[in-house]
Order: sequence, then C-alpha cells, then structure tokens
Amino acid sequence: MNLRDLPAMHRFLDEPEVAGYAALFGTTVVKTAVDDVLRDVRARAVREARAVPAFDAMLERVRARLAREENDGLVEVLNGTGILLHTNLGRAPLAPEAIAAMSAVASGYSNLEFDLSSGARGSRYARVTSLLRATTGASDALVVNNCAAAVLLVLDTFARSPVPGQAGREVVVSRNQLVEIGGGFRLPDVLRRSGATLVEVGTTNKVYLRDFERALGIETALLMRSHTSNYSIEGFVSDVAPAEFATLGKRVGIPTVEDLGSGVLVDLAPYGLPHERTVGEAVADGIDLVVFSGDKLLGGPQAGIIVGSAAAIARMRANPLLRALRVDKATLAALGATLRLYLQPVGHERIPFYAMLRQTRDDVRARVHAFIAALDHRYGERVAGVETLAYAGGGAAPNATLPSYALALRDGRTNPNAFAARLRERSPRVVARVQGDAALIDFRTIPPEREAELARAVVAALA
Ligand SMILES: *Cc1c(COP(=O)(O)O)cnc(C)c1O
Repeated sequence: MNLRDLPAMHRFLDEPEVAGYAALFGTTVVKTAVDDVLRDVRARAVREARAVPAFDAMLERVRARLAREENDGLVEVLNGTGILLHTNLGRAPLAPEAIAAMSAVASGYSNLEFDLSSGARGSRYARVTSLLRATTGASDALVVNNCAAAVLLVLDTFARSPVPGQAGREVVVSRNQLVEIGGGFRLPDVLRRSGATLVEVGTTNKVYLRDFERALGIETALLMRSHTSNYSIEGFVSDVAPAEFATLGKRVGIPTVEDLGSGVLVDLAPYGLPHERTVGEAVADGIDLVVFSGDKLLGGPQAGIIVGSAAAIARMRANPLLRALRVDKATLAALGATLRLYLQPVGHERIPFYAMLRQTRDDVRARVHAFIAALDHRYGERVAGVETLAYAGGGAAPNATLPSYALALRDGRTNPNAFAARLRERSPRVVARVQGDAALIDFRTIPPEREAELARAVVAALA
C-alpha cells in the first residue's frame, strides 16, 4: 500500500465497534485515537521504509487503544475467580430489588429527609433503622460509609480525649484479635489514629476473662472484640465467649463493641459453610455496639452499619463526625431494599451472593459442560471442565472452601497469564484465575444469564 492510500478517518468511524466507542467517549476522543495510529503508521513508513499495514490491522490498533481507554474508567467485569465477595471486583452484586430502589431515587427527588405525612423535615435514617431493628433484634441503629468508618466513629465517640492532643481513653482488645484486613486497615493503627489508647490483653493463642478484668481501670472506655476475618488460630487456644465478655461489660459499666466485619444475618451452615456468628447472635449476647459491612455477607451496597443499645447509639448520633461519614440516598435505598428481602421467607436468596452459594458442584458442572457442548466441542483439549474450590471471600470463613467447577482454557501457544490478560482486554471483560497451564473460569461466580456473552469472550480469546 502506498502512503497516499492511508484510509480516511470516516472508514474507521463507520466501523460499528468504533462507532460504539464514539457514543461512549465522544467523537473527539475516538478521532484522536485514529489520528495517533495513522500518524504512527505514516512515520514508520517514512522513517523505516516499512509497508503500510492493512486496514484491519490498523483498525485493531485503534480498537485496542480505545479498549485501554475504557479500562481506565470503571467498567463491568465477569468474575471467573470463584471468590464470591471479591473486594477488588466490587464485593457484593446487588439484588434486583436493590437496583430498582436505587434507580428510583437516583433519577429524581425523594423523601430522603422529608416526612410525607406532616410535610416537615424528616430523618434520613429512620426507615433503614426500623428495618435494622427488625432484622437484628437491636434497639437502635446507624448507617455510615463503611465498616472502617463505623469503627472510627465508635472509637471517636467513646475513647477520644476531650482535650485536643491529649492521649485518649483506653480500649481493651485481646492480642488474638488485633487484625489487619486489606487496604491498610490495621486495628492497632485505627485505634491510635482515633486518639484512643490501645490496651492489649492475653497472648496470641490464649485469652481469659480475667485478662480483661485485670486491664480495667478508671481510664477504660471500651471493651472491644474483632472478627478475625482472614486468619484462624488453631492448636493450644482459648478464647472468651462473647456472652461472658458482654456480661463483664455490664457488670463493670463499660460499653462493649464487636467489629463483626462481614455481618451475616442468616445461618450459613445450610449452604455448606461453617456457621458464622450472626449479627442477631451478637446482639442477643448483649454486646452494646455491633458494627459490620453492608457489602459483604449482607449482600447490599457499601455501608458501615452500627446496631446496638439505644443509649450507646444515642451517644454516637450526637457525634458531629457522623455528618462527615453519612451515606447518600442511593445507598440508603439499596440497603433498605436488601434488608426487606431478609424479612420474607428465603427472600435473601434473591441476593446474588446467596444464589451463587446455593449451587452444588453438580449444578455448576452441568452448566460448564452445557457451555462446552454449545461450543460444538470445536476446540478439543483447549476447552475442558475441571473441579475447583471456590471461596466466600469478604472476610468470612477464611479456611472454608465450596466445591465448584470451572471452564479450563488452554491456548497452547501463549503462556496462561498472557491468555488471561486477553480475556480482560475487551468487553465483556473476564477475570480468570491462572492455574498450571490453564486459565480457569469458575462458573459459580458467572451469572447464568451472562453465559452467552461469556461464550463470545471465550471464542474471541481463543481465536
Ligand atoms: C472487612 C472488615 C472491615 C472493613 O469493612 P469495610 O466495610 O470494608 O470498611 C472491618 N473490620 C473487619 C473485621 C472486617 O472484616
């Protein structure tokens, strides 16, 4: 091809995929991408006396550039990792009811802080508070940005010194629970930053009630427990039962707080996972303040939920910091709709996390084999089924696995990491897990209604 025969801009813009990007980013961005590729082709042709590539090759370069541009924004992915609550992939997918509720309040105005019966100002939190009472048995509740913010608000309310710059009051925590979760949340650091003084009791493996009793003093502000979300201590161990811990707090008049992390509302045992202490159980044990996430096992939007006694919540509600940590209307709508599902018989199985959890390995295997059959077994050994282990994720049951099943893709030529990268390249982007020489797509975390799109992505990556 001669330099004069370089394709015109409109030939690129007429391509459906490029036109799709123009609708997304605007024509200017797309034209810049085409210009850059054409300029590069021209420069190389002149400088290195290279032949001008075919139109399709140039189109592919334009497409790849635009796909990279799109990847820089927030885009949807298909989760093939088999980790149901994957923090890097946005944690809990929402139930259809939650999405509808969000969309209804997002597109217009709402009675967010308006009482429709009196026509006067109303409370932003009242509706979701009554749902949290009904689902957890607690007397009162508050909602903030995330669980980390909830912990911060508790510490700031109960343990910060009223004198600026002065060491805060003491928070007693057992050494076996000084957890670091992902994203730089280390309990000792959060305590320090909030101005509280950490008092560690017990040892890594054993802690007794008398360890807590001995640590009590006039400066004690809180007795704290934390979920050991991502580790377990086994062997020669001893721990304090939560109910005993709560009773001690009541006896000495010091509030107790438990950071549950995941915050499950139903028993997980019927789903083949170990029983996870529920929010209701923590409340029933008499813990004064129980904090947990909205987007882990609850299956709702990102939020930090605090439930507990009326007196403790009232103190937190008076903290001016609450205003800085408040959630928006879309979060409240989604959280309310998600909580309402828990009040219906097996309503929580409308939440994608529980629908994914409910499948047996045989269910998942059948889906994978139907998928391979639909590809007409065209790819031989390159597409196969394989048994896998899936994980709940989200800081729950760190050692528990779910028997699952995956599509194993092999592309004899490239290494599996390069192949997995190709699966992430174009829409729908698929995040696979590499194991040995294969890229695995665990079907437990692929919604059945997305399988047709997944097939297109797989065929494109294998081509
Ligand atoms: C996940 C987790 C948090 C943080 O929750 P976010 O909602 O992500 O802020 C805090 N504590 C524990 C024990 C956790 O597992």
